[in-house]
Amino acid sequence: MQLAHRVLQLKPSATLATATLAQELRASGREIISLSVGEPDFDTPDYISQAAIDAINEGFTKYTAVPGIMELRKAVSDYFNKSGAGSLPEHVIISNGGKHCLYNLFQSAINPGDEVLIPAPYWVSYPPMVELAGGVAVIVPSGVKKHFKVTPADLERHRTPKTRMCIINSPSNPTGATYTQAELDALAQWAVDTRTFMVSDEIYEQLIYAPAEHASICPWWRKHPDNFALINGVAKSYAMTGWRVGYMLAQHELIKACNKLQGQSSSNVCSIAQKAALAALTIETDSRELMRQAFLRRRNLAMEIINTWPGVTCPTPDGAFYLFPDMHELYTSNMPDSMTMCKALMDRAGVAMVPGEAFGDDNCLRLSYATDDETLAKALDRVGQVLFKNKSFG
Ligand code: GLU
Repeated sequence: MQLAHRVLQLKPSATLATATLAQELRASGREIISLSVGEPDFDTPDYISQAAIDAINEGFTKYTAVPGIMELRKAVSDYFNKSGAGSLPEHVIISNGGKHCLYNLFQSAINPGDEVLIPAPYWVSYPPMVELAGGVAVIVPSGVKKHFKVTPADLERHRTPKTRMCIINSPSNPTGATYTQAELDALAQWAVDTRTFMVSDEIYEQLIYAPAEHASICPWWRKHPDNFALINGVAKSYAMTGWRVGYMLAQHELIKACNKLQGQSSSNVCSIAQKAALAALTIETDSRELMRQAFLRRRNLAMEIINTWPGVTCPTPDGAFYLFPDMHELYTSNMPDSMTMCKALMDRAGVAMVPGEAFGDDNCLRLSYATDDETLAKALDRVGQVLFKNKSFG
């Protein structure tokens, strides 16, 4: 079978591959705890599921407009406006998750050879998606000493005449690092001054832990709509990963381009899922806050354990539900990198984590703490046992 070059050179998603491997090992009888995929362990809140059931019962099962039903686009626009965007529904498109929004955006705004600045550690799918659009992913390293954040000076050092775009993701997947509004403002000002289009992936913006405060690029979009696009969605804040509803805020021409692309590829997001997302965004309950509090408790629990591990550095993250400990002081000749360490921990501790190499930092491993407290404590205890109490390890 002859396959296309673009897919032959494409790496599989490491997050999804690790989660699949953990499931396969479980199916074969191994007891594996997966801290791999970034997915809330909670069920979707009942009032949201009920809206979907109602949609089915009412026969809301036909095609919708490609960029989404107007009520949902309006609810999303109102949502962005709460953070200062000043947008209209025509500035919003609904796609199959934040991931699909990003894919559409890159396909619609990147030309071959355009350089895209991607601060590392980055979410696994940014570089491949940029490359699929013909762009060049230019990685801007940060590292644990800088608490995994970049500054305008870091971006400027990597800027060339071909730089077209940069991607900022706060709170970050995989590190949980969260920019303050002042830090975001500095990055945004740099983007405006250098005419670099900034994509702000804010999918985790509801998952922030005090004393950190909510921060957003929305006010910058209001002032410079041609210079910014925002990505968000219901997956992480409302425990709705499987529903696949993401949204983008951008100026109207770009939304129209994405709409054209979506109309020739996937069409509208599932009509039923759109009704569920509408309920999530328009009905006020405490479910989102209760989940956030559970994540905060688990972050503290996991940090307490990891802080006892000698040689491991892990800044306490202010957002999302990931930890990204720097493990490199524990590397040995038999276990020289994040890939071999993850494999060893899967084999000997029965715990699945994602190698930092997939996120552009081979010193680290990513673990998701979006799992119940007991399982999380058990997993980290097993990892600690294998790393520090088992002499044969490594
Ligand atoms: N974004 C989540 C993660 O990083 C879901 C899996 C994916 O699409 O990468 O685990």
